[in-house]
Amino acid sequence: MPEADGRFAPSPTGPLHVGNLRTALLAWLFARRHGAKFLLRIEDLDTGRVRPEHEAGQLADLAAIGLDWDGEVVRQSERLPRYEEAITALDRDGRLYPCFCTRREIREAASAPHGPLPEGAYPGTCRELTAAQRAAREREGRPPALRLRADAAHVAFVDELLGPVEGIVDDLVIRRNDGAPAYNLAVVVDDAAQGIGEVVRGADLVDSTPRQLLLFGLLGAAAPSYAHVPLVLGPDGARLAKRHGPVTLADRAALGASPAQVRGQIAETLGLAEPGEAPSMTQLLERFDPATLPREPTVWTDGA
Ligand code: GLU
Repeated sequence: MPEADGRFAPSPTGPLHVGNLRTALLAWLFARRHGAKFLLRIEDLDTGRVRPEHEAGQLADLAAIGLDWDGEVVRQSERLPRYEEAITALDRDGRLYPCFCTRREIREAASAPHGPLPEGAYPGTCRELTAAQRAAREREGRPPALRLRADAAHVAFVDELLGPVEGIVDDLVIRRNDGAPAYNLAVVVDDAAQGIGEVVRGADLVDSTPRQLLLFGLLGAAAPSYAHVPLVLGPDGARLAKRHGPVTLADRAALGASPAQVRGQIAETLGLAEPGEAPSMTQLLERFDPATLPREPTVWTDGA
């Protein structure tokens, strides 16, 4: 296996829970198993949801469970000119158009069937607006988002854990109507700039991957490989969240569990530790084999 640098890219919107920490641990194991670099990137573009104080807490928790990383932590909020460069390049290629739709309009339009596009996809309402129609909408004072002409591209890839995945890409947002670069654009620009060879992240993001692969191609960048790891769920079957009980390191510490013990519990859900065992990072690396990872979501039942 050639060296493929990896990364973990949390959004500082709250404390990391055991599901997030498990994904981070896996991303670290994937990278370190062949001695590759492991980078941290703070995805702090969504200013409505980001709370800067969570960044320090997240980094401290990652270090507490034993992760180390290479180089400085990268913050997306400090890289806005890079995203603008990519947006300019896509625009120069005639790939972008302004979209004036409100969320409600999109919801209503997207619920109707639209050829090959999946349900909920943007149906292209603003794609063919004339210059006069655009000017009229601008006069109404609606700030436009910028969308990509994706031409309903069919994108297929082989995920290292999920196997073959395919998707039809709709006209995704590239710059939001509040001016912020959209998630998919920023991730692709950064994964390319940071030379990431293997992206390990939660399976909840797999639907974004065809979109991101299309963008890698349009921006002339080499795409990484992907391993989408099964999620951790609460006892009710929903994605793990704070409401499921003591799920953060701080919560667990209040119950007397050390970070190494929490890591042991996480490792147990990965088949890398016996119950009650707290293996070291070196032991985990020795035991780690992507081929033996669980392919199904794990239910976190330890509510106390
Ligand atoms: N920032 C994203 C999140 O916290 C992860 C993005 C990615 O790994 O591509 O869900």
